[in-house]
Amino acid sequence: MITMSLRELPSVEKFANSLSKIISLPKPLIIGFVRRELDGWRQQILDGKEVNREEIETSVTENLNHFAASKLKPVINGTGVLIHTNLGRSPLGKTAADALVNIATGYSNLEFNLPEGTRGKRAGYLETALACLLDAEASTVVNNCAAALIVILRHLANGEKNEVIVSRGELVEIGGGFRIPEILETSGAKLVEVGATNKTHLSDYANAITPNTALILKVHRSNFYMGGFTAEPEASELSALAHEHGIPLVEDIGSGALMNTDELAPIDHEPTPQASLKNGIDLVCFSGDKLLGGPQSGIIAGKSDLIAGIKNEPFFRAVRCDKLILTVLQESIDEYLRTQSDPSQTDIPTLRNLAETTQKLQARADVILSKIGEITKGEITSANSTATTGGGTMPTSQIPSIALSVNPTGISLNQLSRSLRTGKPAIVGYTDQEKFCLDLRTIFPWQDDAIASQLRTILA
Ligand SMILES: *Cc1c(COP(=O)(O)O)cnc(C)c1O
Repeated sequence: MITMSLRELPSVEKFANSLSKIISLPKPLIIGFVRRELDGWRQQILDGKEVNREEIETSVTENLNHFAASKLKPVINGTGVLIHTNLGRSPLGKTAADALVNIATGYSNLEFNLPEGTRGKRAGYLETALACLLDAEASTVVNNCAAALIVILRHLANGEKNEVIVSRGELVEIGGGFRIPEILETSGAKLVEVGATNKTHLSDYANAITPNTALILKVHRSNFYMGGFTAEPEASELSALAHEHGIPLVEDIGSGALMNTDELAPIDHEPTPQASLKNGIDLVCFSGDKLLGGPQSGIIAGKSDLIAGIKNEPFFRAVRCDKLILTVLQESIDEYLRTQSDPSQTDIPTLRNLAETTQKLQARADVILSKIGEITKGEITSANSTATTGGGTMPTSQIPSIALSVNPTGISLNQLSRSLRTGKPAIVGYTDQEKFCLDLRTIFPWQDDAIASQLRTILA
């Protein structure tokens, strides 16, 4: 083994030039990347490590490829997880996507009143449409559900009067750093825990009310299931208690199914904001990109005086949505209003995928298999599979589905899944009992040809 002298390190300029021919990233990004990598190698050489040029070039090229793969790009989701947080949660329908392009590529009346020619109200149309759909006095929108809860807490729980009563059975962690106790702390609220993990009674809430109680908070246990010896008061009972004491009752319902999604597929019933408001909850908040099937956003709905107060909070300005999100959400809500009487007609992809029949998925699988034809590297068939809603919703729901199932030979499961993940387009599946699977419930029909051609290329 020869110790390489520093002079044999490739030149940044030349190496970056040759890399820019095979990896399509902006040149300055490649130069900066190569410079940092070579600095690292230089240090290793100075530290006495024995390396050779080929090793260096291979490593830098591989790392740059990894970096290039991290750029946000489309992925075909074959995981069967409908709301996959790592894969961007909800895809958008065509109407919403078209509207997005239209607004994004020009100017708009974001805060301009066209008939009057004066300054207008941001999100006015959307807020009215949301209130109509949710049968709420008023509604507004921020960047996500976490922000929605924080802005609600900042408005209602501050100063001396900052105690927030939460059941011990609802002190949940949603994932991605969202823990109810920490959200309360960040907002300046003081957590008052009541009840036990499995049981909280109305009297537990009643006994915790003091002159400093700011609100009672209910949190939907989105991502876990509690069964057995459990009890909690009905929302209507809790609402009567809160109102007797002049305290608002707030509910974070998380996923925000805007219709009875259990009518579309054999899944658990997910609470709707409409039902919560009907049961006497004063304010609800939920995500826009979970079961609602829209863009990342947090929707707040309920009593108009509370909504008006929230919109006046200085913090509201820091979490308001931009015009692109408002456009997409506006189209999504209009879509719900249009298809209220017949949800099977919806253009919301998450709902369509949820409701798709296994017969249709099977027919697509058959076409894909016939397009792939004979393969030499193993066996490929269609198989029954189980899809889930994901995104921290309905953890016990299992949706019957159909998957392509590959039993590879001459190529390992890891090699196969990696080739697909790093291919164009990127395809993500899962491994089940030594088979590589692609669930068709989360794959769009227009992606079927790409699946067939990639699998054929790798396995033929
Ligand atoms: C998902 C979820 C959140 C967080 O929503 P984001 O829109 O991701 O911020 C908050 N609360 C509950 C109950 C949830 O399920």
